Amino acid sequence: MAGERRKKKRRVREKDWDHRHEDAFTHDLRRHRRTDTAISDAAPAPDIPEDFEPNGLVISHSKKWAFVQWDGREDLCRISEYLLERGATILAPGDRVLVEALDGEPWVRAVAPRSSKLSRPGGEHARVSEQIFAANIDVLVVVAAAAKPAFKPGLVDRYLIAAEVGGVVPILCINKMDLVEKEAPELEAYRELGIQVIATSCETGEGLDDLRKALRGKLCVFAGHSGVGKSSLLNSLQPELDLETREVSEATQRGKHTTSAARLYELDDGLRIIDTPGIRQLGLWGVSPEEVAFYFPEIAEQAAACKFRDCTHTHEPDCAVRQAVDDAQIPRLRFESFLRIRESLHEALGR
Ligand code: GDP
Ligand code: ZN
Repeated sequence: MAGERRKKKRRVREKDWDHRHEDAFTHDLRRHRRTDTAISDAAPAPDIPEDFEPNGLVISHSKKWAFVQWDGREDLCRISEYLLERGATILAPGDRVLVEALDGEPWVRAVAPRSSKLSRPGGEHARVSEQIFAANIDVLVVVAAAAKPAFKPGLVDRYLIAAEVGGVVPILCINKMDLVEKEAPELEAYRELGIQVIATSCETGEGLDDLRKALRGKLCVFAGHSGVGKSSLLNSLQPELDLETREVSEATQRGKHTTSAARLYELDDGLRIIDTPGIRQLGLWGVSPEEVAFYFPEIAEQAAACKFRDCTHTHEPDCAVRQAVDDAQIPRLRFESFLRIRESLHEALGR
């Protein structure tokens, strides 16, 4: 069997948080980002070669079962004991897996290394320290409303960091444009960072074609606070989406096994979306307060000129970052957002 599988070099680093931080801690921002992607979470069972070819795509899963697309159909598969031992969230929608039929029943036997992931730290008493709710995602669509709720730039910065950490490209979608005369001036700061900004309205249809075009052929996740219009956007992209989801659980009858609310949907144009409620509390897993500055490119750029190499940009003299804020080179809102996120990570550490 192993001989038939194509040999492919494993290009993925094992997860090693302690050492990762050492080599990640560099003023070279790009290198720092690269160390964070391509994380493998589980080695395959001993009888499966490390370089196995995945033949299935995880659509959704519960503790012991997973809906997997393989062999041209969607099947409810059991998850191998070997994987279960590694924690309940070893699988996530978007995972590429190896499915094998044993005694006529399909089993998920191995999970391929992920190219990207969105996760949050598990709770204090959780069996797993990290909860992964989407894997191998191409785009994180960060949705904010132009109004109702009012647009607050600080709210999207956390999602942008989470995207960077997980190795996912973010797109900023400003919805409900029908409620405002013109775009918020703060959005220019995001464009200058190279982030694509798409203004949409589910009422007028504005920008929906642009959004569809940006997401064609991609696997994406929509994130953003409640009420900004994520569900409305998904339904505008594909009006029959609701209907389809109902059909799936009726047809399988065993849908009750799928307790995890996260699910992958296939839309027209090769667009695939993982819808996951958990994303709202997106934690900044693996980011220390000191590292936050690296994820604000405009801050990281100025930090090299601070007097102290380990300047925190909060109180030190001759801080180039605070000077740049005063000179309006760094948007004040982004700096305030940086301080807030840094502070919240400090608080989380103290708990
Ligand atoms: P979610 O919580 O992010 O999924 O938000 P929903 O899709 O449930 O939308 C929240 C509310 O905003 C609903 O009452 C929608 O009808 C409304 N809404 C969504 N998109 C738009 C839009 O583009 N313009 C306006 N005016 N209202 C919208
Ligand atoms: Zn400084």
